[in-house]
Amino acid sequence: MTLADIMLYPGRASELVLQDDLGDDAAARTQLLLTMLGRVGEMRDSIRRGLASTAPSRTGMVGWNAKTLHDAPDALDAPLLKRVQAYAMAVNEENARMGRIVAAPTAGSAGTVPGALIGVADHLGRDDSELVMPLVLAAGIGQVISKSMFIAGSTGGCQAEIGSSAAMAAAAVTELLGGSARACVHAAAQALMNTIGLVCDPVGGYVEVPCVSRNAFYAVHAVAAAQLALAGVESFIPPDEVVYAMAAVGRMLPPELRETGEGGLADTPTGRRVALKMAR
Ligand code: SF4
Repeated sequence: MTLADIMLYPGRASELVLQDDLGDDAAARTQLLLTMLGRVGEMRDSIRRGLASTAPSRTGMVGWNAKTLHDAPDALDAPLLKRVQAYAMAVNEENARMGRIVAAPTAGSAGTVPGALIGVADHLGRDDSELVMPLVLAAGIGQVISKSMFIAGSTGGCQAEIGSSAAMAAAAVTELLGGSARACVHAAAQALMNTIGLVCDPVGGYVEVPCVSRNAFYAVHAVAAAQLALAGVESFIPPDEVVYAMAAVGRMLPPELRETGEGGLADTPTGRRVALKMAR
């Protein structure tokens, strides 16, 4: 299945993902939907734990940011923005504390999908049962991307990891808000094309800085992509070509910018200091 296949589907995009994966096997469908509802619950649980904790990660670089934002006054009077950011960081701070999260598609990018999807759902008062099919679509988009390119920072840079999670989240939010299959895929493409070039440069090699705040930024990015697509704004570059372009850029990235902790933010004086301290 390609993104074009999903885009041209006349029904709900997530239906095609289910059909492609399981055909008409009713029992398997029921089981998968139950599993997905469970995943929503696990995502929600990691958000709850993350928002309640200020315990630092093992390196001491992160652990209190989600609660800090959650408890702060809403300076912009933009509750959706604040909620999406706080939820995304909550999940990734839980990940940094070795708490249980749903890798979507990876642990490093685990905050983007729940931040965007559950953040929007809570903002609009939607029930968890309404998130199941959008999550199926998110998984389907991740599957399509992973077939033609990489979804790990170690192979394709952060554009592959957070870029994929942002694409998955954008499609899911679009479907939750009633978007067509075409709109869902264009939301994913918009999210993906605007992460191209994003490098993977975790300080000390730990999935904490910039990863925690990066999830907050790209969860908002995913919501923005959904808003564009729902309004009818489409990606000029066909969605599958966006995926290939990102794969090509990933192959051009030097090893220093692919999760080795040797380039970018990891190669700053502070980044090197953290790496030295943790190596002792
Ligand atoms: S910077 Fe690297 S480790 Fe951190 S989220 Fe991005 S891809 Fe993952």
